[in-house]
Amino acid sequence: MYILEIQETLKKAGYDPGPLDDIAGPQTLAAITAFQTDHGLEADGMVGPMTHQALFQDTNPVVQPGDQLTHHFNRQEFRCCCEGRFCNGFPNEMNPVLMASLEALRQTLDVPIIVTSGIRCPSRNAEVGGIPNSKHLIGHAVDCYAPGLDVYTLAAAARNHNLGVIIYEDQGFCHLEI
Ligand SMILES: [Zn+2]
Repeated sequence: MYILEIQETLKKAGYDPGPLDDIAGPQTLAAITAFQTDHGLEADGMVGPMTHQALFQDTNPVVQPGDQLTHHFNRQEFRCCCEGRFCNGFPNEMNPVLMASLEALRQTLDVPIIVTSGIRCPSRNAEVGGIPNSKHLIGHAVDCYAPGLDVYTLAAAARNHNLGVIIYEDQGFCHLEI
């Protein structure tokens, strides 16, 4: 998973790591080396602490200004999933308190957290069977999963970060809310 994150970040930063296949092949190593050269780092193709920091924190903005809500989460990940049919994607914004907890959870677990539903407009909320006063409407809830991690482990960790949790075991995700 980590190699994949590196590949995705390299690509967003304008480098060509080859296929996003989670394998540190020659193209990925070449992209890392090129990135290191451009950033005045030792060009050894290894993502040590310095390169990691440059890649994940100090690169030129790889997203629109203001879109990086936390170190690991981008605003676009929380866009309403109506695909523009009912809203412009952001009838509301994600709550900063929820985002802080989600980021802390992400760092505790140290695995990616995939958002399946963040903000919802009322029409989309109704369409997916959300309750009328769903916390998704106001950015106080997120549905997510962590690949390779069962929902109970995710849920337990989320509770430790003061998040309310509803486990959707059948569908393999957790609803987290403040
Ligand atoms: Zn919508």
